[in-house]
Amino acid sequence: NNKTNILGFNFLNTTFKDFLNNIKDRINNKENTFVVTANPEIITYALDHPEYSKKVKAANYLVPDGIGILKGAKILGDNMPERITGYDVLLDLLAWGNKNNKSAYFLGAKPEVIKDLEKILMDKYSNLEIKGLQDGYFKNDEIIAKDIINKKPDMVFVALGFPKQEDFIFKYKNKLNSLWIGLGGSFDVLSG
Ligand code: UDP
Repeated sequence: NNKTNILGFNFLNTTFKDFLNNIKDRINNKENTFVVTANPEIITYALDHPEYSKKVKAANYLVPDGIGILKGAKILGDNMPERITGYDVLLDLLAWGNKNNKSAYFLGAKPEVIKDLEKILMDKYSNLEIKGLQDGYFKNDEIIAKDIINKKPDMVFVALGFPKQEDFIFKYKNKLNSLWIGLGGSFDVLSG
């Protein structure tokens, strides 16, 4: 895999399509996959918070979500083909999952957003199996994690914003060989 090092963070340097093909193969093979879509804000935060930095660096794929990352790469003499945003990844995986009868668990956002999201999923992605839909304002993360692990979704979409989403994923990802990806405010965008 082609990588570009920015301030000690190894970003994947490929096209959106190549990246998606890679993670779809990994999902099909039930490989454990942790994706961080990072913008400059995340990297800035990580540079100030070693514990968070460690988690970001543990990702199988760190992808550039933000034009600032592409600009940084260019200054360092490496061109990256394009941004890879969490929202675009989510849309692509929903369509693919729908076509291929995959399953997913959705964690994050406000209860009313999750309700709207459920409608959209049933309407547009009815062949995608919904293993769980859980808002992001829970008290006990272990109960939520247990539910995810028991239900064994192919994909775990975690939209708690950073650093919460990476903290959650890092804590539990090794208990289930699925795709785990932090998606920031993507559920809000999808629900309009
Ligand atoms: N969120 C959540 N639980 C929390 C805090 C935030 O589910 O305890 C959700 C929030 O409702 C929103 C998302 O996380 O849907 C954060 O979106 P934001 O755009 O702030 O995050 P970013 O994309 O900057 O990481």
